[in-house]
Amino acid sequence: MKKTMFVIAVFTLAILSTLYRSRTDVNASTTNREWKKNNNKYGSAKQLKSKSAFIILYVNDKDSSWTEKRKSDMKKKLRHSIEFIKKSAKEYGASPELIADVYDGKEYSDLSYNIKSDISFTDKENDTDKMYKKVKSYINKHVKLRKIRNKYKTDSIGFLVLLNKSGVCHTHVHVASNGKKDFYECSMLFDKYDSRQEGASTYAHEMLHLFGARDLYTVSYGDGITKRFIKYVKKHFPREIMLTTLSKGKVQLKYKITNKVSRITAFFLGWKKNIPEKDRFYLYAPKPRGTWDMSV
Ligand SMILES: [Zn+2]
Repeated sequence: MKKTMFVIAVFTLAILSTLYRSRTDVNASTTNREWKKNNNKYGSAKQLKSKSAFIILYVNDKDSSWTEKRKSDMKKKLRHSIEFIKKSAKEYGASPELIADVYDGKEYSDLSYNIKSDISFTDKENDTDKMYKKVKSYINKHVKLRKIRNKYKTDSIGFLVLLNKSGVCHTHVHVASNGKKDFYECSMLFDKYDSRQEGASTYAHEMLHLFGARDLYTVSYGDGITKRFIKYVKKHFPREIMLTTLSKGKVQLKYKITNKVSRITAFFLGWKKNIPEKDRFYLYAPKPRGTWDMSV
């Protein structure tokens, strides 16, 4: 009897340790090739559920550059964006750990870089590919990805490309049907929009894209986001951050975020398994959640 109990105990422990290992991202890939292979349909940012690191790239391009003062203000805005995402996750029982060099001390200083570029970075559609290529080659040459993954023990890495100029922020996500092409997922974040300061809500919106959040203000038939669905979101979730980044008074606040992550975005991120809107509007549920596939 005692021996049977011992065997059962050993067996249970073995199962528990396997479960524990598979439920956490404790072991980061040791090579970049393995990392890309392990992420499978995901891009570099993977899913917003356990630990993710943001790597910050300050771009000093042909016609703009960063000062310490502007960097410090940008960090403050990004801190608010990150805190907003963490707070929103809690409402859905998720607790992602997000790390980035946005605090005052030296902590995480190995997660930010300065890029020098002889081209001008803009928000013009014709330029985005050129800019992305430039960023990609910089990452390959200079960012110590393997070291970072091992040190911070995560395979989930998003890139924040920061520009001290005016422009429309956008995010370059990895599309699963493109194979390993464009694996690095980057948000291009401009400091200003026209002549006003861009706000933390816009940066949070772009960061959420890195992990699978869809725009809910524009039609995307592949995802089930039709005109009828947008109308529904506007009526039932008017503060949804993927619908609008403006505050109630329709103004852009610099640091404070008054928008919400509704269950619609929680569904695309994988924080919520099911929502009533899925069947009602034939929403496409990406498999696994957090991925993008434009072939559907
Ligand atoms: Zn968007």
